[in-house]
Amino acid sequence: MAENFPIPTYIVVIFIISLLISTIGNSKPWSASLSHNNRLLALDVAGKLLVDPDSLKSVSSDFGHIVKEHPKAVLCPSTTQDIVSLIKVAYNDSIPFSIAARGHGHSTRGQAMAHDGVVVDMSSLKNHRNGSRTTLEYGLAPLSFTDYLYLTVGGTLSNAGISGQTFRYGPQIANVYEMDVVTGKGELVTCSAYKSSDLFYAVLGGFGQFGIITRARIALEPAPKRVKWVRMLYSNFSTFTKDQEYLISFNGRRQNLALNYLEGSLLMDQGSPNNWRSSFFPSSDHSKIISQVTKHGIIYCLEVAKYYDDHTKNTVDKELQQLIKGLSFLPGLMFEKNVSNVEFLNRVRSGELKLQSQGLWDVPHPWLNLFVPKSRIVDFNNGVFKEIVLKRNITTGPVLVYPMNRNKWDDRMSAVIPEEDVFYAVGFLHSSGFGNWGDFEEQNKEILKFCDNAGIKIKQYLPHHATKEGWINHFGSKWKTFAERKAQFDPKMILAPGQRIFNNI
Ligand SMILES: Cc1cc2nc3c(=O)[nH]c(=O)nc-3n(C[C@H](O)[C@H](O)[C@H](O)COP(=O)(O)OP(=O)(O)OC[C@H]3O[C@@H](n4cnc5c(N)ncnc54)[C@H](O)[C@@H]3O)c2cc1C
Repeated sequence: MAENFPIPTYIVVIFIISLLISTIGNSKPWSASLSHNNRLLALDVAGKLLVDPDSLKSVSSDFGHIVKEHPKAVLCPSTTQDIVSLIKVAYNDSIPFSIAARGHGHSTRGQAMAHDGVVVDMSSLKNHRNGSRTTLEYGLAPLSFTDYLYLTVGGTLSNAGISGQTFRYGPQIANVYEMDVVTGKGELVTCSAYKSSDLFYAVLGGFGQFGIITRARIALEPAPKRVKWVRMLYSNFSTFTKDQEYLISFNGRRQNLALNYLEGSLLMDQGSPNNWRSSFFPSSDHSKIISQVTKHGIIYCLEVAKYYDDHTKNTVDKELQQLIKGLSFLPGLMFEKNVSNVEFLNRVRSGELKLQSQGLWDVPHPWLNLFVPKSRIVDFNNGVFKEIVLKRNITTGPVLVYPMNRNKWDDRMSAVIPEEDVFYAVGFLHSSGFGNWGDFEEQNKEILKFCDNAGIKIKQYLPHHATKEGWINHFGSKWKTFAERKAQFDPKMILAPGQRIFNNI
């Protein structure tokens, strides 16, 4: 099933790691020492290591606000060589210390933390790059986005980078041509599908275990100008998924008929059909939608988008109508928007800013993200959405459910997905108070247990496993290769300890 990247017909430019800026304020250079490692002080990077309480605190938690781990220092590299120097010191030390790259710390389980080690603030590298610029300035955009843009390229390539574009363009990890990676031995390697390919495939979806990505060359295409954005509501889950699967079957990259984006979500009795992640529905439509939710308990919302520009503005409606005409959504419950591409791509940001202004962004996020095989998605709906989620009645955040095609992924990469040709991404994107995130953890556990008991072979996305057996089970047939690659590229197990795959279990 592995497919090579097509030779780029579009321009490919260097896309610098760390798309957006986050800074560590009030930082003081390191003047103390890591007790076990005085050798660091002799290095050039010593001046770029921070140990003041504010710097350490800023990397001791993450978006999840569930885990806390204190490092000994934060490295703010200005060059790739700084990262090479740091890793070499750790590698050559008799008692190596751990090192974690941190993008924006948007992980939810401490994955970018390094207990008693050094956290590398990757945004600092970006701040020192003169050539750093956004692709949109050149009228270009990546083929495959995430729903939320304020993540880093290095962080998403360490997972997969999925969204409504994945069914057609593959995850972000399937759209990479080349990377510069500093391995756990401190070696800087340029890798691609044709050069040091073992490292290349290891790093893609590799949870930061094999090296720190310092440059990535990814596929771009001319950025579309505008987007037709449509939502359709269903009361019947089987009809909803049948229509989703029909639509993603048009997945050729240049087919006129194919959509550019497809997702789906649950609407439950939460007072408003909108949530922090989306304010798509105008208030004038709320009562109509709420009455359906009240009647059915859960309404399933199919969301699609089609890009257009000056050349296609006269045909886009016809093409969209052609796709939609056979669908079985509830009569009268189709909603349409016509927005700029930037507004569409940046759709989650306004929700974030609103929550930030209310002090509700930096709260615990006990998220659970799963890949569910197509053959069991109806069982999942019956056992999880209808039984567990509806009955517990604590889920207020967005719940996503949308399918993707396995043949857009590459099995040589570290990322793990279900065995079936089509599988669903299901995301429970909970926010909670500091006192009650345990309730959501209980629900997450119940969902995982249900799947286990029912024999639904799910895989976690952005996974978290408490035991080594959990990880071995997660990787399945890929575990052996994953462990061998770790021994090859990070034999002293220095990198990304916060994933807790090889360390601290
Ligand atoms: C609001 C929100 C929306 C999201 N939406 C999506 C979405 O639509 N699709 C999706 O796929 N994911 C989504 N995510 C999840 C996101 O992909 C992960 O959180 C991911 O870890 C990226 O976050 P980050 O760039 O801040 O990485 P971090 O959390 O900082 O790091 C994640 C892991 O990658 C490692 N790492 C970071 N940088 C590098 C590097 N340069 N080289 C090697 N390893 C590195 C870290 O050590 C850590 O183990 C979302 C997260 C949030 C908070």
